[in-house]
Amino acid sequence: MPTVRELSAPYENYMLVPRPGPGVCPVCFTFTTGLGVCRACASAEQWADAVVPISYSIAGEQLNHELWRYKRLRGDVPRRLTMRLAAVLWRFLDGHETCVAAAAGTSEFELVTTVPSGDRERDETHPLRRIVGELVGLTWLRHERLLMRSDRPVPGREFNTDKYVAKRRLDGEPVLLIDDTWTTGANVQSAAAALKAAGAGVVGVVVIGRHIKRDWQDNDRRLRALARPFDWDRCALELAGKAGSP
Ligand SMILES: [Zn+2]
Ligand SMILES: [Zn+2]
Repeated sequence: MPTVRELSAPYENYMLVPRPGPGVCPVCFTFTTGLGVCRACASAEQWADAVVPISYSIAGEQLNHELWRYKRLRGDVPRRLTMRLAAVLWRFLDGHETCVAAAAGTSEFELVTTVPSGDRERDETHPLRRIVGELVGLTWLRHERLLMRSDRPVPGREFNTDKYVAKRRLDGEPVLLIDDTWTTGANVQSAAAALKAAGAGVVGVVVIGRHIKRDWQDNDRRLRALARPFDWDRCALELAGKAGSP
């Protein structure tokens, strides 16, 4: 059996740690053309107490392909990708779950859950739940399927407090909410809203890839300026603590 370290090592070639600063959305780390939050974050309600993308996921490039294929293909390829992505999440949480907890305002997360698929049928077999609930040793004991896609007709990509419903009441437990990709944040924020409506305490969010387009504005230059290779010892939050450093 390959180790977490071996399975996650290839990602060092194409994952990129987001870094905060001027022209970077302080909520989701996308590049912006000004100060303050990006348009998508400004138009959704902010329910998550901290959002930490492990890496940028650039449209049309390797991580982006993997995050699409692991849940939409059938057979050996997605099975292998699921194992590798589990290793990435495991290794990241091993180093940085404490950073996420501190940023969210808690010492630890009692519960770990995932953002359900927007598609109720696909959600029944979503491999992200297998990653968090079965494969990652740091999360599986705390994992619980807390959310379901509601049966209300909610437009696919918009923030909506009725998009998801909790399966049970919560009693102030801090929750770590995990998703594979952040595009507009609408699904994650809707899920965080549903958790809090059910009584959750703080909600910290880890997403594997913060979706971004290389050909928008000067994203290409800004992506090239990010440190390579990927450094497992640094997360977007630790860099946030060193604001002003290059
Ligand atoms: Zn944003
Ligand atoms: Zn960290």
